[in-house]
Amino acid sequence: MASRRSSTKRGNAGRGKNEKPSAAKKKAPAKKAPVKKSAAKKAPLKKRAPKKPSLPASTVTRPPKKPAFNAKTDSANDPNWVAPVWDDDVLLGAHVSIAGGTHAAPARGRAIGATAMQIFTKMANRWAERDCEDAECGAFRAAMGETRIRDTIAHDSYLINLASPNETLRRQSIESFVGELKRCEALGLTYLVSHPGNYIDDRASGIQRNAEGITEALSRAPGNTILCMETTAGSGTAIGATFEDLAQLIDAIPEPYRARVAVCVDTCHAYSAGYDLVNAYEDVMRQFDDVLGLARLRVMHLNDSKTPFNSRRDRHELIGEGSLGDVAFRNVMNDARLARVPKVIETPKGTDPTATDARMLARLRGYIAAM
Ligand SMILES: [Zn+2]
Ligand SMILES: [Zn+2]
Repeated sequence: MASRRSSTKRGNAGRGKNEKPSAAKKKAPAKKAPVKKSAAKKAPLKKRAPKKPSLPASTVTRPPKKPAFNAKTDSANDPNWVAPVWDDDVLLGAHVSIAGGTHAAPARGRAIGATAMQIFTKMANRWAERDCEDAECGAFRAAMGETRIRDTIAHDSYLINLASPNETLRRQSIESFVGELKRCEALGLTYLVSHPGNYIDDRASGIQRNAEGITEALSRAPGNTILCMETTAGSGTAIGATFEDLAQLIDAIPEPYRARVAVCVDTCHAYSAGYDLVNAYEDVMRQFDDVLGLARLRVMHLNDSKTPFNSRRDRHELIGEGSLGDVAFRNVMNDARLARVPKVIETPKGTDPTATDARMLARLRGYIAAM
């Protein structure tokens, strides 16, 4: 955190205000999803009878500051829980816990009616590495076969900083990042979402280091998993708070590796970074298309924000209950250009992640065609 970001690099999304976002909005051709759980086909969630009910809370993987996953209070373990089933093409889901092992995640996705799912493939706040062995991969794929999940996403460890000027930390980050890519490949995950690093000393040098780290990792971990660089809220020296940052980063990765790199937009981060998804949605989309090209947008994180517009802070809130409110999510859910982009929530889960996430996903689906 040595220096502040240069003032010319601020997000400039508020400029040239659009009228009402709804006025310019095209309706998504997506079929209307059933809004009420009762309207959806019901499939009672089979109790999965895991070998071990759960790992001790201290050993499971989760982002910092979130309550520990507790199997006892989660509806996925309630035999009376009715999993919603959505008979449509909407790619929507959540980040779910891998407590008990990666093979336990798909059932949690199914319990919330997910058609897209994000997981960690290791403990996200530890350096400890691990490989996905054949037995684990087989169990994961078998469990996936019992779901309607079509797009799978991994999120990388929070410790990785490929942009660091500290060569020791950067080398460690590259090794860890190679591990992330290899686990995605072994598990057959479609996307790996990664935060750009913190440049610490100088932005341009940091972007170059970040690009070189990605290039090395991709060259050492060949495969099909697409790397999606996530937009950041822009606190401290974080790279990725502007679309221009991400474009420079991607441009600095040589082919053929660049073809494996795309972008994940996190609505909370983008709003905090100055992209006004509420009042200037079409402007933001146009800027993304101009700077990065909409074809690069392959994953979205749908999160509301606890902090105001342009706050440069990263505090996720329940959908429609934060500073973005429902308008931003109505815009996204009805945008035909985003119909094929898998969207996952990373919102607070409380003591019952399954019930909370299912409620958030039903809320998002309720926004479809409701404009
Ligand atoms: Zn993230
Ligand atoms: Zn995110």
